[in-house]
Amino acid sequence: AAEVANARVEEVEGEVNAFVTTTPEIALDRAARVDEGDGAKKPWDGVPMAVKDVLSTRGVRTTCGSKILEGFEPLYDASALLNYGEDLVMVGKANMDEFAMGSSTENSAYGVTRNPWDLGRVPGGSSGGSAAAVAAGEGWWALGTDTGGSVRQPAALCGIVGLKPTYGRVSRYGLIAFASSLDQIGPMTRDVRDSALLLQAIAGHDPKDSTSANVEVPDYLSELEGGVSGLRVGVVTELMGEGIDPGVREVVERTVKGLEGAGAEVGEVSLPHSRYGLPAYYIVAPAEVSSNLARFDGVRYGLRVPAGGVHEMYRQTREEGFGDEVKRRIMLGTYALSSGYYDAYYAQAQKVRTKIIEDFRAAFSRYDVLVSPTSPSVAFEIGSKTGDPLAMYAQDICAVPVSLAGLPAISVPGGLSEGLPVGVQLISDHFTEPMLLRAARAVE
Ligand code: GLN
Repeated sequence: AAEVANARVEEVEGEVNAFVTTTPEIALDRAARVDEGDGAKKPWDGVPMAVKDVLSTRGVRTTCGSKILEGFEPLYDASALLNYGEDLVMVGKANMDEFAMGSSTENSAYGVTRNPWDLGRVPGGSSGGSAAAVAAGEGWWALGTDTGGSVRQPAALCGIVGLKPTYGRVSRYGLIAFASSLDQIGPMTRDVRDSALLLQAIAGHDPKDSTSANVEVPDYLSELEGGVSGLRVGVVTELMGEGIDPGVREVVERTVKGLEGAGAEVGEVSLPHSRYGLPAYYIVAPAEVSSNLARFDGVRYGLRVPAGGVHEMYRQTREEGFGDEVKRRIMLGTYALSSGYYDAYYAQAQKVRTKIIEDFRAAFSRYDVLVSPTSPSVAFEIGSKTGDPLAMYAQDICAVPVSLAGLPAISVPGGLSEGLPVGVQLISDHFTEPMLLRAARAVE
């Protein structure tokens, strides 16, 4: 399989640009080790994988899509990768929006990734490289990360399955932080069964990540074929109206009818505060960015711009190393946390976050699974939103309430609109991934 994946990378990478770094030798070496019987003990051993370039890989350049990490080679592997196994057949490090900030992969310092469905369109983001790699066959599956939709939205736009696990389900150790209270690693796969398998491979408690949950890991395959008979499914009213393309809405409605036909009990559910999700997210996430990205100063990692004096070196390294969106977020976050504005912005956003959590709690007292679109539109043209950050942020409208509440959610291809894939988002309560996967299996 490694040979085939490598050949596919050779074949299409010139057009797709799914990777910042390809690692064909690593893929072949490790595949050989698995073949020799050293490692092929688990069902996922030997499966070629694309790894988002925000996950630390020992001795392999890890850039986060940023110039500031040019040439940085981590000293250790992310825990999620080690959980998977030493013989991970990695075909390459997947392209992404710089430090995972964006919804189109256009914010990468290593060029835009193109959507394999239409090379003039974006693959979504920030895990656009991972999604495009899977959609183009450059890896059988991939790992992405999701802070405010970055696994789900690119999966939707590339016609694959993307799962954001419950916050704390997968260790964040070795995942270069964007917004620590939201970040979560997730599987990006061709189908729901693979999603369950890959989650099995990466989930679990890790003492190295204090936010990783000490909750037993269930067998994610066990319920998969159980069907949806009697499952209570709630369609989220606020995420089916304004701002959602009619073609996308139609696919979601059709999917819900399908679930009903399969025996689910369908109703409507309101998440009244979900419309404040975007403004709350775009305060909370940048606030965490302003702190997390302070470490990139030219002293420890990657790029250093030599200058007279250490402060000038910091300044010039950050000026040259960071792209526009990252700078915008650092400024927004620093402002929201500054004295005199903290209460008006950050504290307020945290209150909204609590309201959103309460909305979901009420919803889950009546429903098992909630349904919405993953993204308000299908894949858009490259360049069409780069001049308008707010239009780009609006892409995340269906994804961020889930992130703020730390819930698991999965995007499953539901059909086509304008000949392009539409993702349907299914949401469930904390640590109920087996049920979520079962519902998703009934959709695909
Ligand atoms: N598009 C969102 C943002 O730019 C989400 C990114 C993510 O989940 N990493 O912040």
